[in-house]
Amino acid sequence: MHIVLISTPIGFLGSGKGGGVELTLGSLVTGLLEKGHTVDVVAPKNSKLIQTSNKAKIHYVEGTEQKSWQHQDYYSLVTIPDNSLLSGMIEKAIAISKKADIILNFSYDWLPIWMTLNINIPIAHIISMGSESSVISNLISKVYSKYPNNFAFHSKIQAEDYPFIDDPIVIGNGFILDNYVFQDCKNGPLGWVGRVAPEKGLEDAAYVANALGEKLKVWGIIQDQSYALKIEKSCSAEILEWKGFLKTEELQKELGTCRALLNTPKWNEAYGNVVVEALACGVPVIAYKRGGPSEIIDHGRTGYLAIPDDKESLLRYLKSINKIDRKLCREWVENNASSNIFASKVVKWLSMIIRENKS
Ligand code: UDP
Repeated sequence: MHIVLISTPIGFLGSGKGGGVELTLGSLVTGLLEKGHTVDVVAPKNSKLIQTSNKAKIHYVEGTEQKSWQHQDYYSLVTIPDNSLLSGMIEKAIAISKKADIILNFSYDWLPIWMTLNINIPIAHIISMGSESSVISNLISKVYSKYPNNFAFHSKIQAEDYPFIDDPIVIGNGFILDNYVFQDCKNGPLGWVGRVAPEKGLEDAAYVANALGEKLKVWGIIQDQSYALKIEKSCSAEILEWKGFLKTEELQKELGTCRALLNTPKWNEAYGNVVVEALACGVPVIAYKRGGPSEIIDHGRTGYLAIPDDKESLLRYLKSINKIDRKLCREWVENNASSNIFASKVVKWLSMIIRENKS
């Protein structure tokens, strides 16, 4: 199969601005190449493919980035800036897809979804967020009625945000397991990983660390400075240790030393890459029982699912965290979320669309 991937128009690959999509794209490309498929990646200028996926051909596009939908009002109109990066990436993808079988779109935006109705080559969409925009959800509904198989979701609970989807195609996610080393550190610090932005709910994890008088190590790009400052002010001095945005290799080394990862999103997290990355290092996760993490964590075996937004519930589960066998955490990832398993699901899904398009 020859696949042309369109990356996220929010930031270049390696910037951290694209969130989990950046890692997902890298591990999918790796899995597809290992299976012998040909992959072209259309991505913003300065993007870097991870080493295991650098046999894919990368096509750079320059232009003005899109604003992420989760940081806009639900009823905002679609905006396309002058010199749009997104439209440039779509133009490039169409131009190089003459001999390809399919375009696979990673960008959560209106234009590539609308294109599904208007070009001959099939376009498949990995929907990376819950419903964050009225105009996009309505467009997905319209396109879905004609092409129901062209959309895939990371989790069932994410797909439920789109009530018109009858029987969602759920592909989970994939991770290059060699990049994560198991560590047996039951006495390490508490950790939190994610974009520091309101939908990620860092304040609840900070509350827990503060109540225990313990350090909370925070890894990730600070997208909202005033939000970060407000959380810092709500804690005693030196509770939060800002570690910044690290490459996977460095992140996993440090993350693996944690005794638990706290995952406290306020939105319907589509999947929650950081949850699986922690498990891959043997770190159990305490997360709110909402969104993707609620389908990933095996309550009582690989971590705990706390009552959403209930910080006392997080604190209670933390007391039992050492009962979790860290090896089971790693094992879950090996059996459910390797890049190979993920690529197989994606290939099966794309093959179905290609067959349909030919018939
Ligand atoms: N991440 C990273 N380095 C860091 C912190 C985070 O590479 O220091 C990556 C992490 O590997 C994950 C992504 O940021 O792939 C966050 O993805 P997630 O699905 O958890 O949330 P999203 O940002 O997509 O909402």
